[in-house]
Amino acid sequence: MDHGPRTGNKVALTFDADMTDGMLASLRAGRVKSYANLRILDLLEREEVPATFFLTGKWVQRYPDVTRRIADNPRFELANHTYEHAAFTGDCYDLPSLPVDELAGDVAKTFEVIKPYGGRQTRYFRFPGLCHDAATLDALAPLGVTVVDGDVVSGDPFATAWKPLVRAVLDHVRPGSVVIMHVTEANAAMTDEALPHILAGLRERGLVPALLSEVLAAA
Ligand SMILES: [Zn+2]
Repeated sequence: MDHGPRTGNKVALTFDADMTDGMLASLRAGRVKSYANLRILDLLEREEVPATFFLTGKWVQRYPDVTRRIADNPRFELANHTYEHAAFTGDCYDLPSLPVDELAGDVAKTFEVIKPYGGRQTRYFRFPGLCHDAATLDALAPLGVTVVDGDVVSGDPFATAWKPLVRAVLDHVRPGSVVIMHVTEANAAMTDEALPHILAGLRERGLVPALLSEVLAAA
């Protein structure tokens, strides 16, 4: 799914929590400080904004306290973004790729990692890089997940200024939209600066952030 019904006024803010072995190595070597942007959580909590987090298993294992903080908030939803942010298609940006026959196991394992945290668990799944094809979708069928891409790409990975993100979101957002952002700080350093402006712009447009499950279900 890319978005919910175009009626009503709800939009879903979604945040991906990527984590690869390369990112873990950068943390260990001290090349980066953090892949968990707590300023985003602070803002969402302070403003009581609902949001949905697509978590990789390795991110959850690296940031158990932050995961607990997400799970403990009734306005936040937890979803699945693979175990180690690998791609299961041949060509997906420069992500490492895994064979498609490992996909179902990878995604099931990620649910097992997320499950003990409780909170608002979902069966939503997002492919790294949004890369999928017929074979990957077939492979996921037994798991009963809903594959969610999104219709508004903020472009926050490796952004060097916040204004383009605000423009990218506000120029494209409509009722039912699913907005893709990242909570990965070092790899998405402008997201927390853009977010207050995005929230203000949504308000001006009469759009209200809601959980992804509400946005997709709203008829
Ligand atoms: Zn991702």
